[in-house]
Amino acid sequence: MDTFSRLKRSEIMQRVKSENTRPEMLLRSLLHRRGYRFCLHRKDLPGKPDIVLPKFHTVIFVHGCFWHRHKKCKRATTPRDNRLYWAKKFVRNTENDKKHRRDLKKLGWRVIVVWECQLKKPDRVLYAVDKKLRIL
Ligand SMILES: [Zn+2]
Repeated sequence: MDTFSRLKRSEIMQRVKSENTRPEMLLRSLLHRRGYRFCLHRKDLPGKPDIVLPKFHTVIFVHGCFWHRHKKCKRATTPRDNRLYWAKKFVRNTENDKKHRRDLKKLGWRVIVVWECQLKKPDRVLYAVDKKLRIL
């Protein structure tokens, strides 16, 4: 269901694929406080990952649930108007994501995806990241 007004929708659209989104900033500050050191948006890597942890040879993507179609997430709504447009856009986004993950893995990077909605429970996200990086 599309509950956004036209104006709100265009505001949201302007944030598409923008860097330094709120969830991303949140995760960055969590990781930083935890002692992780990282670089941001490395343009030489597939998909320009949001966070790059060189020491762990790991990249982290912070995905918005709507744009990147978080499965079974209530934020992954589909706007009522222009369904075909949205369907195409979503397919393109998810296919790009998949390709970037594959290419990064081929280059030897470990890939972690953190969903926007998961950041409502930051402790869990940090725990999952620690585990993936095997520092726990
Ligand atoms: Zn979600």
